[in-house]
Amino acid sequence: MPAVDYSLGGFKRPKLQTPNGETKLLMHSCCAPCAGEIMEALAASEIETTIFFYNPNIHPREEYELRKEENIRFAQKLGMDFIDADYDKDHWFDRVKGQENEPERGARCTTCFDMRFELTAQHAQAHGFDLISSTLGISRWKDMGQINGCGARAANPYPGVSYWDFNWRKQGGSSRMLELSKREAFYQQEYCGCVYSLRDTNRWRESRGREKIERGVKFYQAAMKSLDK
Ligand code: SF4
Repeated sequence: MPAVDYSLGGFKRPKLQTPNGETKLLMHSCCAPCAGEIMEALAASEIETTIFFYNPNIHPREEYELRKEENIRFAQKLGMDFIDADYDKDHWFDRVKGQENEPERGARCTTCFDMRFELTAQHAQAHGFDLISSTLGISRWKDMGQINGCGARAANPYPGVSYWDFNWRKQGGSSRMLELSKREAFYQQEYCGCVYSLRDTNRWRESRGREKIERGVKFYQAAMKSLDK
């Protein structure tokens, strides 16, 4: 395990414990900015964790690869195992057919979370993990109740696998997520992930006279530096 400084501005991390003494966590990860703080908290708490990157929702492929590479970079830094799952985007488009115009946090997102958590739970059951969770819930743009409902539903068919509904935003998690993203200069995506969220975010920006999203160019450190000026 590489030597890692887990402190952030003098903050001392409380030690996390799994809900019922589970020993192997399979953590679904959506991207490095959301995952960073959670991964570091788990590593500092010595909870055996493997990252499961399964996000066929992310569009286009270059954006998917960029988000994945950022996450791999940080997993390597922590010495954390990383599973690179399928980019089965055709399957994702099949699942959300008819939900293209749903708003964010609506029915399409439930389908999207279901699909990602179902594979996470299947993989957990097949490979001896007794706990799953997801980094998705740390984002303030997401509905935590919706995410937790999908996670619990995915784990339900597997008696040996539980879903951990820990609130990663608590105890300063949200602000440390930003601090850590800045420290690590993570890529800072500006839309949730799918082609429909890209479309809707651009529409929203246009309605306010703002520029369209430029994918692949914004990184946290640079953004924070300009805010400091
Ligand atoms: S907005 Fe985000 S969570 Fe909802 S369907 Fe698109 S990628 Fe999935």
